[in-house]
Amino acid sequence: MELPKLNLHIHSKFSDGRNSISQIVLTALKKGLDYICITDHFTNSWKDDIIPNLNSLNKIEMYLEEIDHFQKYLLEEERQMALFKGIEIDLSSTEKFILNSISPAKFDIILFEYLESIEGISFMKKIINYWKRNIKNSKAFPLIGLAHFDPSFFAINGMNILIDFLTENKIFFEFNSSYPQFYSQKYRSFFDQLKERNILVSIGCDSHHISTLKDIEEVYDRIKFYELESNLLNLIQILDKKRI
Ligand SMILES: [Zn+2]
Repeated sequence: MELPKLNLHIHSKFSDGRNSISQIVLTALKKGLDYICITDHFTNSWKDDIIPNLNSLNKIEMYLEEIDHFQKYLLEEERQMALFKGIEIDLSSTEKFILNSISPAKFDIILFEYLESIEGISFMKKIINYWKRNIKNSKAFPLIGLAHFDPSFFAINGMNILIDFLTENKIFFEFNSSYPQFYSQKYRSFFDQLKERNILVSIGCDSHHISTLKDIEEVYDRIKFYELESNLLNLIQILDKKRI
């Protein structure tokens, strides 16, 4: 069976990507992708001084409007490709800044980057629980995922806590083609648990340039190797409910 082609981790000029959303959408169409998500950076850590990112309400609003414009364009042109609104939150941002800046219902996908400890899980839980309390309509709740997650941080300690956390909150693991070391065979037991617990998996390239929008071939091989096709299809099913 041919799996749909996804790239759910793309950066535009709204953060440190080289291309406009328009260039990304038109190139993704040409390359024959089925699902894409723009996921520009969000941070108020020290990285805020170095990486351009969605660090103000005004900028977030402009960003969402721009994606919205292209979602309507795809609809009007009757194109099959689905475009989603995403954001990538740096976990070293402050809780207050995240809660004050991000309205989760406005996004389809929210990625968290740099989950590296049990404390990081507690931090994410606080944010997710706050969002859940404030979104009454569960359909409006975004998909939450771990960007370029490195399983080695939990290999010795905390793997069960991590797996329970992912299961309970329906958080996906991202196969990120820019970081193949994170889906190396040495983490086989982690991937076996993803399969066993039906944890969602996603695909992203962390594209900062349109030339890498479809660098996904190897990821599909790896998903098949770990027998995680149905985990990916479950994610696609959720995406299909979110597409406009
Ligand atoms: Zn990224």
